[in-house]
Amino acid sequence: MNLMKILVTGAAGFIGSNFVRLILNKYPDYKIINMDKLTYAGNTENIKDLPSDRHITVFGEKGDICNIHNINNIFELYSPDCIVHFAAESHVDNSIGDSSEFVKTNVLGTDNLLKASLKYGIKRFIQISTDEVYGSLAHEDAPKKESDKLDPRSPYSASKTAAELLAYSYYVTHKLPVIVTRSSNNYGPYQHPEKLIPKFITNLMQGKKLPLMGEGENIRDWLHVEDNCEAINLILHKGAIGEAYNIGADNEKTNKDITLRLLRAFNVGEEMIHRIEHRKGHDFRYSIGSEKLMALGWQKKYADFDAGIQQTIEWYKTNTTWWQPLLKDVKY
Ligand code: NAD
Repeated sequence: MNLMKILVTGAAGFIGSNFVRLILNKYPDYKIINMDKLTYAGNTENIKDLPSDRHITVFGEKGDICNIHNINNIFELYSPDCIVHFAAESHVDNSIGDSSEFVKTNVLGTDNLLKASLKYGIKRFIQISTDEVYGSLAHEDAPKKESDKLDPRSPYSASKTAAELLAYSYYVTHKLPVIVTRSSNNYGPYQHPEKLIPKFITNLMQGKKLPLMGEGENIRDWLHVEDNCEAINLILHKGAIGEAYNIGADNEKTNKDITLRLLRAFNVGEEMIHRIEHRKGHDFRYSIGSEKLMALGWQKKYADFDAGIQQTIEWYKTNTTWWQPLLKDVKY
């Protein structure tokens, strides 16, 4: 099957830009059409090192997935073989402040892409979803399987659940070749400093305290972004149509644990922790099993979490001019 022309939405964001880089490095004959509205989270710097003859960029207003004409234009001009759909409002705290953009981009934007994919015919539609669709787990709960009930609890995760269910409904109703990925929390190069790990690294680099919610007892499963992108690539080429795949790292850590690791890496003590209130409705724990993905042949490259964190710290240390201009958009 020919999947050589990939339309990547949200290509100037954190995971999207890492994915585009991975594909262009791995497949010399593939071409990418990068679509991105360039919200505060999208950054042309994220993909400026990519070979210009291998990708097309449709950025700004013309790259907005909320405008169906933009999407139809892209299909008419470039006839992509498949879509990997990352574009989203992605920050939970923002969704608590105002959910409107989340519904618009994550749900209506996805609906536009599905309609165009049906109209023009697409060989794969990869819907990038999240482990947050399963809701919050207790300590003793078993990791979630793909067949488990979805139980989103934040406006962000509710909008992502709506989007993936809509995509699935296009598979059931129209036989659109949809596959859903549900990954756990990513970390690594090019992540916006609004998110926990880069926020704490860049705060420590500036001598600022680390705002830790509550006692830092909440648990997330941390996955290196390159491992997620490898998994998405595998699912794009080998995944079964109509299925969902968890992408977890089997690397559950409390936020306190993450904080202490970063403090150690910067040789400073717990006096650098500044306790803040929990976010409203703060999910306690996410946990997913990735057996279905491993059966496709996926294995993590970043098995050593400390090595992954160290690589990430080094990246932020050598790329200060990348993250400093982004601090103005960090609200929480
Ligand atoms: P991000 O916020 O870094 O990037 C999102 C990108 O989407 C940005 O470049 C932004 O400009 C673009 N975008 C937003 N609205 C758009 C619109 N209307 N039209 C076109 N582009 C638009 O997010 P990320 O962390 O890279 O996440 C990518 C995807 O992965 C999202 O769908 C997110 O829900 C999912 N996900 C992320 C994580 C994580 O830990 N980061 C975990 C699981 C799933």
